[in-house]
Amino acid sequence: MKEFHDIAWYVKKLSKEIPEEVRKPVPQRLLGGLAYVVIIISCMMVMQQMNMNIIVNLFFSIILGFSFAAMGFLGHEILHGTVVRRPWVRNLLGGLAFAPLSVSPRLWIKWHNITHHAHTQDEQKDPDAWISFEQLLKSPKIIRWVYKLPLNFRAFVSFLSLTFTFSMHTMKMFFTYIGEFKSRKLGVWMQMLVPWAVWIGLLSYVGLNKWVFMYLIPLLIGNFIVMAYISTNHRLNPLVPVNDPLANSLSVTVPKWIDVLHFNFSYHVEHHMFPGINPKYYPIVKEKILEFWPEKYLQMSLVKALVTLWKTPRIYYNETEFLDPRNKNSYKSLGNGLDVRNITYKKNKLNIN
Ligand SMILES: [Zn+2]
Ligand SMILES: [Zn+2]
Repeated sequence: MKEFHDIAWYVKKLSKEIPEEVRKPVPQRLLGGLAYVVIIISCMMVMQQMNMNIIVNLFFSIILGFSFAAMGFLGHEILHGTVVRRPWVRNLLGGLAFAPLSVSPRLWIKWHNITHHAHTQDEQKDPDAWISFEQLLKSPKIIRWVYKLPLNFRAFVSFLSLTFTFSMHTMKMFFTYIGEFKSRKLGVWMQMLVPWAVWIGLLSYVGLNKWVFMYLIPLLIGNFIVMAYISTNHRLNPLVPVNDPLANSLSVTVPKWIDVLHFNFSYHVEHHMFPGINPKYYPIVKEKILEFWPEKYLQMSLVKALVTLWKTPRIYYNETEFLDPRNKNSYKSLGNGLDVRNITYKKNKLNIN
């Protein structure tokens, strides 16, 4: 039996090791956000003023999409309270940073901070955890049919769908949690509707042709970039009985300049252990984790994680294994024997219809 520890256990072990100053909020991170706001507004103004060919327009769309994603990463750390402390300023700035992706700050705190962080990789309670074999058996016929398609085809479709998964999941979370806001329900509705009103307003102002390059394509690119990280954060890890960040999370590595542009979002193990510490300091936290538990820390390059994601099926089976319902092959998860250089599977006899 594997030994798990909860977050408090790790925090207790590392607390004395981590310098006090890294616990302070880092308002200077907002300068990065300001730079992205300037880039977004400038690109949109140029696109509005000039009639450019498709290639140049697409080039601007890529810059915008990249900026939308980066603003989302900043919004994430702002709403964890690691940039500014005062709640109303935190929510306002978090909402602004998340505006390109139209995420309500209050909804995000409920869905991400309170639920995902507290119940990471808990089959029932984590809203971001992938479904298990038992859940698949209870799913509608169409879902069960989709999981019978060849693995490579499913991987292709799911990678393609990363271009809208974040926005779609945000809407799902909105309708999952909106009932729980009670007296604040109207405010959360407004936080979702205002950004959409701005983007739809932009459509009526610039016309469909320009809007596709100014907002729609960047939104798809932004979705893909944030989902490229999010889908590798936990989906190669097992479901776990204890919220142990060294078992249920993966840190990915990217070139240093991408870490700078993406606000160190790649450090996800560190983030789950210390969500209250600004990501700027995660390299320090990583050093400490590697000093204490080098054999348990899970990391690989983002590209390798995406390739592994492509090559393994996405249904949990026995918590530590993935199952391909098409041929009943089972694959190991990270920390439980999954070798990313040589992915193997085991044949199973299961009765699935
Ligand atoms: Zn977080
Ligand atoms: Zn996470």
